[in-house]
Amino acid sequence: MHEQKKNRREFLATVGAASAASILVRPGEVRGAAAPEDKARLAIDGGTPVRKKALSSPPYGPQFYDDVEKKELLEVLESRSPFRWGAPDSKALKFEQAYAKHIGVEYAIGVTSGTTALYTAMAALEIGPGDEVILPAWTWYADYDAVVLCGALPVFAEIDESLAIDPDDIEARITPRTKAIVPSHLQGGVADMDAILAIARKHKLLVVEDCAQCCGGRYKGRYVGSIGDMGINSFQLSKTITAGEGGAVTTNNPTLFERALRFHSVGSLPGPYKEALKGGLLASFASCNFRMSEFTGAVLYGQLQKLNTICEAVRRNNRKVREGIADLPGLKLRKSADVEGDLGATVFLVWETKELRDKFLRALRAEGVGGSPPGGSAVLPRDQRIENKLTIHPDWPSFQTPQGKAIKYGADSCPRTIDILDRTGGVLMNPKHTDEDVQDIIAAIRKVYLAMRTA
Ligand SMILES: *Cc1c(COP(=O)(O)O)cnc(C)c1O
Repeated sequence: MHEQKKNRREFLATVGAASAASILVRPGEVRGAAAPEDKARLAIDGGTPVRKKALSSPPYGPQFYDDVEKKELLEVLESRSPFRWGAPDSKALKFEQAYAKHIGVEYAIGVTSGTTALYTAMAALEIGPGDEVILPAWTWYADYDAVVLCGALPVFAEIDESLAIDPDDIEARITPRTKAIVPSHLQGGVADMDAILAIARKHKLLVVEDCAQCCGGRYKGRYVGSIGDMGINSFQLSKTITAGEGGAVTTNNPTLFERALRFHSVGSLPGPYKEALKGGLLASFASCNFRMSEFTGAVLYGQLQKLNTICEAVRRNNRKVREGIADLPGLKLRKSADVEGDLGATVFLVWETKELRDKFLRALRAEGVGGSPPGGSAVLPRDQRIENKLTIHPDWPSFQTPQGKAIKYGADSCPRTIDILDRTGGVLMNPKHTDEDVQDIIAAIRKVYLAMRTA
């Protein structure tokens, strides 16, 4: 045992020296006059940082704004017709058709946000009081709020090391009242849809894919949002493509499409879609106005033309980093259900303890390449307003049923989710990272990882 351990230490020391040397010889960099041995000393311990100027990862979409979006937007302004119904050559309609074609679904509806897309999907699927919907314990608030606001009961399942819902934890949460599962494809990753669909089929459950953090991502060759019964997306600033705000609902089912259309536009079946649905087959019902404006449609129609470029760039950068750190002994990366298809928005390492993860992130930040825990979502069951089941009215139907009264949220309801999130962290990737940025990320991860493993 002792001898084995020694060999491993020697091996690590050799790899460490090699990587320090390769950092040293990189051309075009002024590294100061420190001795070679100092190169591997971590910046957090007073060594020279890999980067002097910290690497940032600004929102993807706006970095790609150019004359394409400008032209589309100006056309709406000059047409003086910013309302989608009746707009000649409607941009919102063009966006919907192009988006549906891009991800490979029959129908897409542009709405005002990812949140209102979720409300629309819940309404289309007739989810309401008495129903239960299974969500991952780590996702965005809108997934929970949409279920509560339609009067149904949210039930949380744990995540796994992909940071998406753990299929193995879904079945234990299913009851005769369960109506749907909402797998979220989070932080550029994809949920394990084969396993989720198998469970859904077995128990006759509906599946709503939340693709807000994975627009353009694919699972085994199919775009996310085209796999479940319905998909939703967001085009808010922090998503893959953006008009500041915006959302979409997708489906292949004409009945769900008609219900979603009616719900999002005051119960009516508007012009361009009336014909496609043969005048409409369903009665109108109490509904909302979540219509997309022509200005939003114009920007998104332009941004959609950049979606492939953005996704390819992030994936390429992510692949290079993974290749550059693949030989690190004992390295454990965030799991992925499709590592080539997902967006690769993060290079996250999974550590044995929170202390190690925190130390790793602090040291990475000191090296100037950033260092982030999982973000963009919250551990919902431990949020105060959720733990206390606070709603807009004390008699809210979600929490008046025996199940709604009995259900206990809180941190104790999702220990594995909290543990995994506490041990995960790394670097956020960006489509505009240059080759040199990518090399710095590799160098910093190698330097810190090796220092920590040989300490
Ligand atoms: C952003 C987000 C939403 C909500 O989208 P908005 O456009 O901000 O309303 C829903 N789900 C997830 C997973 C998100 O990240």
